[in-house]
Amino acid sequence: MKPLKAAVAATAAVALSLTAAACGGDDGGGGAGNGGDKITVGIKFDQPGLGLKTPDGKYTGFDIDVATYVAKELGFEPGDIEWKEAKSADRETLLQRGDVDFIAATYSINDERAKKVDFAGPYLLAHQDVLVRADDNTIKRPEDLNNKKLCSVTGSTSAQNVKDRIAPRAQLQEYGGYSECLTGLENKAVDALTTDDSILAGYAAQPEHQGKFKLGGFKLSNENYGIGVQKGSDLKNKINTALEKMVSDGSWDEAVKKNFGPANYKNEPAPKIGNIVK
Ligand code: GLU
Repeated sequence: MKPLKAAVAATAAVALSLTAAACGGDDGGGGAGNGGDKITVGIKFDQPGLGLKTPDGKYTGFDIDVATYVAKELGFEPGDIEWKEAKSADRETLLQRGDVDFIAATYSINDERAKKVDFAGPYLLAHQDVLVRADDNTIKRPEDLNNKKLCSVTGSTSAQNVKDRIAPRAQLQEYGGYSECLTGLENKAVDALTTDDSILAGYAAQPEHQGKFKLGGFKLSNENYGIGVQKGSDLKNKINTALEKMVSDGSWDEAVKKNFGPANYKNEPAPKIGNIVK
C-alpha cells in the first residue's frame, strides 16, 4: 500500500495515519508533505527529452524534471520517487486503479479523459506534427498523409486526431509506443509517424538518428500537457501551486533549456495554470 494513495481517499486517510503512527514514522498526517514515504509517478520510458529510461537505469527528460519538482513540493525527495511506465493507452487506468499517485507523461488534457481523471496544469503547450524520413518528398502537407502508412500510438490524441480530421483516409497503424513507430519508420514499414512536435524533435535529435528524419512543421493541434491525478484528488490544487512556483522561480525555464535545447525544440512559453488552448 502506498501511503499517498491511501491519503487521497478520505476513508483510507484514517487507516493511513494509524499505520504511520504504528510504524513510528512521521506525524501521521496522512497526505503529501510528511516526508519519508514513497510516491509513485507515471512517466514515459521511451521519449528522449521528455521521459526516458536510459540503459543504466536513470530517468531523464522534461516530464521527469517537472515531476521531480512537484514531488519535492509535496514533500518527497528524488530518492522517494518510484517511476512507473505509463504508456499512452494505460494512463487513465493506472490513475483509476491507484497504481500511480500522479502522471507526467506528455499527457494532453481533453474532455474525454477529464471524465475519468483530473488534471493539474497545463505545464506545456505542444502541437501535433509528423516525422518522415529525411529523403521523403511526398509528404509536404497534412493532406498528403491520406493513403500513406501512418504510425501513431493506441490511446493517444495523435491517433484520434488522424481519424477524426487530419487524414481520415491514411492507413493508420497504432503501436504501443512511439519508439516502435520510429523503428517502423526507419525500416520503411511505415511512411510517417505522427505525434507531438516535442516528442518528434527528441527522436530526430538522438545521435544515432542524425540526418535520418525530418519534421513536417505542421501545427496540427494544440496539446496542453497536464499532470493527471485521480478524480477528486486534493493533489490537483497542490500540484497547481507547485507548477506555478516552478515557473516563477525560473526552474521551468531551466528544465526547458536542459531538455529541449539539445533537440533545438522551439517550445511555447509557459502556460498559465487552468488556461487550456483549444
Ligand atoms: N500528448 C498526446 C497524448 O496525450 C500524444 C503523446 C502521448 O501519447 O503521450 O495523447
